[in-house]
Amino acid sequence: SSSTSPYSRIILKLSGESFAPTGERGISMPEVVHIAKQTVRAAQQGVEIGIVIGGGNILRGAQFTAGASSIQEATGHYMGMLATVINGLALQDALESLGAQTRLMSAIKMDGVAEPFIRRRAKRHLEKGRIVIFAAGTGAPFVTTDTAAAQKALELECDILMKATRVDGVYNDDPEKNPHAVLYDHLTYNQVREKNLRVMDSTAIAHCMEHNLPILVFNYRNDGNIERAVRGETIGTRVTS
Ligand code: UDP
Repeated sequence: SSSTSPYSRIILKLSGESFAPTGERGISMPEVVHIAKQTVRAAQQGVEIGIVIGGGNILRGAQFTAGASSIQEATGHYMGMLATVINGLALQDALESLGAQTRLMSAIKMDGVAEPFIRRRAKRHLEKGRIVIFAAGTGAPFVTTDTAAAQKALELECDILMKATRVDGVYNDDPEKNPHAVLYDHLTYNQVREKNLRVMDSTAIAHCMEHNLPILVFNYRNDGNIERAVRGETIGTRVTS
């Protein structure tokens, strides 16, 4: 097949917030279909795509730490992992309504809902051109789906981890609060750590740094950006060694 992408295989990390209108929670199917359309167009560039889906639009485990909660933090994290499965089901149907072939794999065994994650099987699906959605994160509490995305990118030998966000990339300050915040077009892993930049959680950055896995942080809200990222166009912020 003729490919217009410099990459053979990528992990796309989609936050749960990409499934809800700005500032809202829950799942809005128009939002899900919007991101699914972009993903399908990106897959048509001839690149194998695995998606690690977040759950923050439903809940995050860390919200149960305030002390006032009778839900233990670990329980909250498992609830968060289940939230990603809910998102995964929505995304799967959105992708399939657009004609894509998909598989949903879960890191927590859930017969009847999703396939169990088995590395060799996941690779086989990707090789066959299926868009594979990875749900339930790492299957373990106290980390986020960013860490799951880094792990999946490494174990599935992806060329790059693409993190879709609602801003244009990584800034020196919060661009939603500071209008003078400056966008970086390139950063090293060490700069991310030293400047304490909010790219991904620190476990995820450590994994990428240790294995030299490039990260691209870009804005999913600009229509066509997933496709542009996959074609290797210079958008967003690249993080490398
Ligand atoms: N989570 C977890 N382990 C994982 C992945 C996720 O415990 O490997 C929990 C964690 O509580 C997290 C929640 O699931 O906050 C939802 O995932 P995340 O916050 O990464 O979603 P996003 O911000 O990408 O929407």
